[in-house]
Amino acid sequence: MKNFLKYLKYWVVFLLLLTLYFFWYTHGGMGHSAPHFHANFALYIDGKRYDFSLDKYSQDIAGCRAWGTLYAKDRVHLHENNPDTIHIHHDGVTWWDFFKNNNILFNETLLVMDDGNIYTNNEKNTLRFILNWEPVSDPYNVLIRTKDRLLINYGTESADELSLWKFLDVSDNAEEYNKKDDPGSCSGGHGAWFFSSLMQNLHKIMWH
Ligand SMILES: [Zn+2]
Ligand SMILES: [Zn+2]
Repeated sequence: MKNFLKYLKYWVVFLLLLTLYFFWYTHGGMGHSAPHFHANFALYIDGKRYDFSLDKYSQDIAGCRAWGTLYAKDRVHLHENNPDTIHIHHDGVTWWDFFKNNNILFNETLLVMDDGNIYTNNEKNTLRFILNWEPVSDPYNVLIRTKDRLLINYGTESADELSLWKFLDVSDNAEEYNKKDDPGSCSGGHGAWFFSSLMQNLHKIMWH
């Protein structure tokens, strides 16, 4: 009994952690913060790189939620005005999910930009997609995987010119970002990050 009392405070902490873990696990905390990886992209229209460094394309740091409703923009976004490093925070995120979050739509032959401009294939210009150095017809439904690199180009360039040369312009820093904490509280930063990593470690200890 004496021993039990001596260790009581540890039991209280343990039970408290277990309760927190239970709520975190059952209320979707897992789904929010488990995956966190990165990919790169670039989008060119008529030889000009589209500028994704504007504030409107970056997810507000406070916008990442550790609890409650999951919004489309929480799943995949840019951070800190970095124009070409995509942060993926959820399973099953496609390229479509990312571009749609930024009000950009496309299919094989048509590109609709967030400024309202529409670009379609014609005698001079073609819409082309290069994924990891390979021309693809339409990455619409393709899942974004870690370290993927996508070039979207509307212009006069041939598929060869794009995959052999222009693809070099797509950044290649996903690996580096994979090793860092996320700037959003979703998987890095402050407060929520501490809680969520504590819970994730507890999860690992219990199940792996
Ligand atoms: Zn990130
Ligand atoms: Zn994020």
